[in-house]
Amino acid sequence: MHLLPTQEEVVRVLRETGALRDGHFEYPSGMHSNEYLQVPLAMRYYQHARTLSVGLSRLLRANTEIRAIIPELSIVAPATGGLPVAYGVCEALRARQVYWAEREDETRPMRFRQYLEQHPGEQVVLVDDILRSGNKLSQMKRLLESRGANVIGMAVVIYQPTPKTCDFGSLPLYYLAKLDASYYSDAAHCDLCEAGVPLEKVWV
Ligand SMILES: [Zn+2]
Repeated sequence: MHLLPTQEEVVRVLRETGALRDGHFEYPSGMHSNEYLQVPLAMRYYQHARTLSVGLSRLLRANTEIRAIIPELSIVAPATGGLPVAYGVCEALRARQVYWAEREDETRPMRFRQYLEQHPGEQVVLVDDILRSGNKLSQMKRLLESRGANVIGMAVVIYQPTPKTCDFGSLPLYYLAKLDASYYSDAAHCDLCEAGVPLEKVWV
C-alpha cells in the first residue's frame, strides 16, 4: 500500500476487517441505513491503524499553515474512537501532544481530565475516526474555543456525510475516503423496510 492509501484501498481494509458491512441497520437515533461502519474494528490491527494514520498525517502535512506549526500542534480527539487515529497522526507528524475529551453519558457535557488546560492561542487539529453527523466534533470545537484554543483543521479516516451533518464552514477537513451510505429518517421512510430486508440494530 502507498504512503497515501487510495479510497479503494481504505474501503478494502474496512471490508476485510468487518468494519464496513452491507445490510439493513437501525441506528440509536432511529435512522435506518444500508451500511454499518465502525472504524475501530479496522484500527484494532496495528499495521492497518498505522497505514491509515500515516496517510492522514500526510494530508495534514501538505497544508502549509499546519506544517509550519507542527512542533506546537495539539492533536485532540472528541471521543475514544478517535484515539488510535490521534496517536498515529501525532507520531507520524511529531506534533506536540495528544489528548481527548470524555463524558460520563450522552446527557452530560464533554469535558477534559482534571488539570488538563489549554494555553491561550493553542493550535489544535481535531482528529477522529469518522465524521458522520459531526455533533461530537462540533461540541469539541466549541469547548476548545471557549477555553482559548484555536481549531485550525479536522482530520478523519472516513467522511460519511448525512443530511444532518453539521456545517463547519471554511475549516479545512481532511479524510482518506468518502463513503455515501443511504440514510432513511425512520422505518416508515425506509426502502429496505418496504422490501422486507431483515433489520439489525446497532449501537454507536
Ligand atoms: Zn429500514
